[in-house]
Amino acid sequence: MTGSQFEHALRRILAEQAAWRTQWEDMHPDDTLHVSGETLERSLDELFARLRDNYPFYHPAYAGQMLKPPHPAAMLGYFAAQLINPNNHALDGGPATAQMEKEVVQDIAAMFGYDRHLGHLTSSGTIANLEALWVARELQPGKGIAYSENAHYTHGRMCEVIGARSIVVPAGADGGMDIDALNSIVLSENIGTVVATLGTTGVGALDPLRAIVDLGRARGFRVHADAAYGGFFRLLADADPPAVNREVFAATGDCDSIVVDPHKHGLQPYGCGCVLFRDPSVGTLYAHDSPYTYFTSDDLHLGEISLECSRAGASASALWLTLRCLPLRPDTGLGPVLAACRQAALRWAGLIRTSSILYLLLEPALDIVTFFPAKGVFSASAISALSDRVFRDAMQAESAPVYLSKLRVRTRMLQARYPMVVADSEWTTVLRSTLMKPEHEAFVPELHRRVERFASLAANRDNSGT
Ligand SMILES: *Cc1c(COP(=O)(O)O)cnc(C)c1O
Repeated sequence: MTGSQFEHALRRILAEQAAWRTQWEDMHPDDTLHVSGETLERSLDELFARLRDNYPFYHPAYAGQMLKPPHPAAMLGYFAAQLINPNNHALDGGPATAQMEKEVVQDIAAMFGYDRHLGHLTSSGTIANLEALWVARELQPGKGIAYSENAHYTHGRMCEVIGARSIVVPAGADGGMDIDALNSIVLSENIGTVVATLGTTGVGALDPLRAIVDLGRARGFRVHADAAYGGFFRLLADADPPAVNREVFAATGDCDSIVVDPHKHGLQPYGCGCVLFRDPSVGTLYAHDSPYTYFTSDDLHLGEISLECSRAGASASALWLTLRCLPLRPDTGLGPVLAACRQAALRWAGLIRTSSILYLLLEPALDIVTFFPAKGVFSASAISALSDRVFRDAMQAESAPVYLSKLRVRTRMLQARYPMVVADSEWTTVLRSTLMKPEHEAFVPELHRRVERFASLAANRDNSGT
């Protein structure tokens, strides 16, 4: 979307808001709410000065954490509804945005292969996962919840919140859950639910969902997919050839519940997670006094199937407008956005493989690239020190900076691919890049050049003893 399209749309939103208000008699904001022009200007100056203390999340040179601005369509959808400020807790809090929420959630459910579902938006992935784990505990009281050692840290915390026993399953060399380890845990422990992560937050690894679902069917545990980060990559799994692991993503429709974060790869501003259940009858678990049929009826009351109460109707409006402009399709809309991010990761991984100073930690499964700099000394501590230095130098460079992130991984992960790494520490700090903007695809050669240069400069400085 161009800047002038955006400005034009903003003006249309303000005009539409004024027109909408003409249905009711004129009113004037109360004097207590008045702010002088001078105060406003001064306050804005202060705000702008403070907001300068940020990293350029919008720019492809920012290749660090999972951060980027929302799509302009999302901002417009948000702003248009925010002027009214509906609350999606209840239908009478905002009929229009509640309906939009049902439509977008239906689109997401269809993307995952659910032919029916119960679900809604949430304020975040954490809350969405909490809800799924709470439902799991209600259905399997007293049984444990298992997740991989690389699962999001909030699963352990949320198990404490709901008073469920949690069991950590070791991960294999690719960062995904070790299915053999899960198998033996299931035989010895009373497991009610297994959380499978599609796109671990650290390295973007995929748990072997197909095998986990099959094991769940044989052993009678539920499967919850935490696809907060990777869920929208489902769109790329049916391409020919598939751009992501098809077997893993094709199993989403067989999971009992799924969480995805539109505020990560769905182009949304923060405040937009989503939880889905395959069996709508879990709606009976939410304390309320309506009969079960209520949940399959068309006038579903979102507040009665949600742990949260008030939620911004504007989030639903933002996602709805975004999906009108960029639908959940493989070849158009969101698909090509994700395909570019995936290509960026593959491209950079290819360049790193030929580098004499950067080493790939893992083959990327999605769009997160993890690597480390090393020269001469291949020990965990030397690699950690050099990663720290490259991270800092790249970010602080006067010109052509690069914003990376750091990740602490078990040294044995490095050794799996590079047996010469000396484990003088159990943990090693490596570098991590989330290439979640389509602009990264074209920028990757430049990113690579810059990072290689920072790595050589830092390594040479080390060797000369300064
Ligand atoms: C980001 C993330 C979460 C947490 O979601 P928030 O929206 O940050 O609360 C949970 N699981 C995974 C895999 C994630 O990537």
